[in-house]
Amino acid sequence: KLHNMVQELKGNIRVFCRVRPVLPHDLMTPVIPGLRRSGSSTDGSEERGAIAEISFPDKRDHREIVLSSTSSNAMGQERKEFHSFSFDRVFEPEATQREVFEEISLLAQSCVDGYNVCIFAYGQTGSGKSFTMEGGSTEATMGMIPRAVNEVFRAAEALQDKGWEYKLEGQFLEIYNETINDLLGKGEFDKKKHDIKHEKLHGSIPSTRVTDITIHPLSTPHQVTTLLQLANSRRTVAATLMNSRSSRSHSVFTLRVAGYNEHTGTRCEGCLNLVDLAGSERLSMSGAAGDKERLKETQSINKSLSALGDVIAALGESQTRGGERDSKASGVGEKHVPYRNSKLTYLLQNSLSGNSKTLMILNLSPLAAHLGESLTSLRFATKVN
Ligand code: ADP
Repeated sequence: KLHNMVQELKGNIRVFCRVRPVLPHDLMTPVIPGLRRSGSSTDGSEERGAIAEISFPDKRDHREIVLSSTSSNAMGQERKEFHSFSFDRVFEPEATQREVFEEISLLAQSCVDGYNVCIFAYGQTGSGKSFTMEGGSTEATMGMIPRAVNEVFRAAEALQDKGWEYKLEGQFLEIYNETINDLLGKGEFDKKKHDIKHEKLHGSIPSTRVTDITIHPLSTPHQVTTLLQLANSRRTVAATLMNSRSSRSHSVFTLRVAGYNEHTGTRCEGCLNLVDLAGSERLSMSGAAGDKERLKETQSINKSLSALGDVIAALGESQTRGGERDSKASGVGEKHVPYRNSKLTYLLQNSLSGNSKTLMILNLSPLAAHLGESLTSLRFATKVN
């Protein structure tokens, strides 16, 4: 049971893996050149919409995923390779939004107890990150953001009896080319410059503020739906300016939770960050070289995703060594965590250190054409796991 032991030592960092189902439009997915399996027909038609061989051998704890790939040697002999990965939880394509949220619910609630929580969706474009985070408009399809907000409202209400009164606020931004844009702002997109400030107000953990960002007070959980719609309409406007931009940017929804207990005079502050990361697909630098904008995008995505991986891996290491995450107060081990290497990690610094909890959801496509990207994603996740 080495795995369980490692889990315990890891403390506040967890990694889930979710494979999305095969969709009707997948059957039209053309083979990506270069990812084509050797030995397949030259026009790739044989693999159009083909499903990768993915199995879930651990039927009891749902922790293991196995991908198989076929390669051929110089003699043309085919060889099958199996790649096995284990996570805190693996979700098969049939898993519903409700089932995924069941595993996240306690984590989401803990911001009411003063924790800073980060939940990331990582994966290539089309792997189901936005579906997981925002989801659809029905009860069955709604994603982790509205579910988490609901849950926090519920948890806050349950504490009223004990004298706790909570104030909830939402903010939603995107980081594109290392620049912050307000997804809930009024007026023209991109016009304001937003800086990140870490301020020590009270207590030992500084709070993070983004200058000139719109903060919406939330009095009912339903208001979050309006915020998501507003953010999407602003993004759509931007998308016409630049093609498929939303997959090239990170979006960060932050729910700020401030509690005051009138019986004891105690205050408590926490926040919940839900992050839909930019598509992790490797974009070839050579292809982007002729297009300056594209090259800049590619470089900023690569930089911020690897910075995020480095930060989480460094935190995991200091935890494993110390038995538990080093506290901000002691400062031990914090020095080497490279937060400043990207806007994303700098923004989330206080939610990725000290009194915080982190979950990475690795989204995977079920398609054979995406097998190479899936393996790259899985390897990234093992680095932080
Ligand atoms: P990404 O945000 O990673 O680019 P999306 O969330 O947009 O990917 O997912 C790609 C497509 O797959 C969308 O049409 C989405 O609705 C669909 N999809 C993703 N995950 C699921 C799922 N678990 N069940 C049903 N449809 C899904």
